[in-house]
Amino acid sequence: EFEGRVALVTGSTSGIGLGIARAFAARGATVVLNGFGPARDIAEARSAIEEEFGVETAYSDADMSDPEAIGRMIETAAYRHGRIDILVNNAGIQHVAPVTEFPPDKWDRILAINLNSAFHTVRLALPVMRRNGFGRIVNVASAHGLVASPFKSAYVAAKHGIVGFTKTVALEVAEEPITCNAICPGYVLTPLVEQQIDDQAKVHGISREAVVRDVLLAQQPSKRFATVDEIGALAVFLSSHAAASITGAAIPVDGGWTAH
Ligand code: NAD
Repeated sequence: EFEGRVALVTGSTSGIGLGIARAFAARGATVVLNGFGPARDIAEARSAIEEEFGVETAYSDADMSDPEAIGRMIETAAYRHGRIDILVNNAGIQHVAPVTEFPPDKWDRILAINLNSAFHTVRLALPVMRRNGFGRIVNVASAHGLVASPFKSAYVAAKHGIVGFTKTVALEVAEEPITCNAICPGYVLTPLVEQQIDDQAKVHGISREAVVRDVLLAQQPSKRFATVDEIGALAVFLSSHAAASITGAAIPVDGGWTAH
């Protein structure tokens, strides 16, 4: 389905991003990975994708908090592959603290990685998509792009911001064969959430089990974590021709969280 297409997924060395990259590779796309982690793990993830799905992979170590590095990543991908058909802005970090104790440098970093990076990738990738007459932008926002929770001021601000950015870009490209949408996952059990379970346990002074039951899944009426595969499947659908009329949407994958 995606043979000949190039999908660039930021923050794809782990968790949801890696799941999305694998979902595109499974359907024949060349995937450009990005993110941090031990070189050996990244090399292993790449060769697993190449062997399992018979596609080409590339990797950029660009730091999504560095606009110049983002520029080099987009330029290199466009030059090497001649196209960027699908851009998934997924890289993201979290920090949990009351607003009065929220470290200003953490605020800046969360806004830079979770929001500003998407401005830079979109700004630079859109001309490449226009040149090839096709484009799909998928921003991994969050249920926290639609509703708030305490102790996550920077994250909620950034995620609400990216939902607004998604709608604006969608309107700007509405008459072109390019769409821009946001996926709003509820809780997915990834390293980011594992870390949060520890942080929330500290903030609330309760056990990890209690955090999962009474804090995280208390929000999620389905009482189960959404899965990386479910998010990947939606990213693939939004990037298909069948989804040509879906643009400017923020789609929850949250077990009913934002329904109540
Ligand atoms: P994760 O920590 O497992 O993965 C994050 C990825 O981003 C990793 O590949 C990491 O290397 C990369 N990354 C971090 N900082 C980076 C930087 N400065 N530059 C480049 N890459 C960087 O997290 P995840 O849970 O898979 O989260 C992925 C996205 O999904 C995030 O935007 C997150 O906010 C969002 N999200 C996650 C959940 C959840 O429950 N896990 C829910 C809603 C939204």
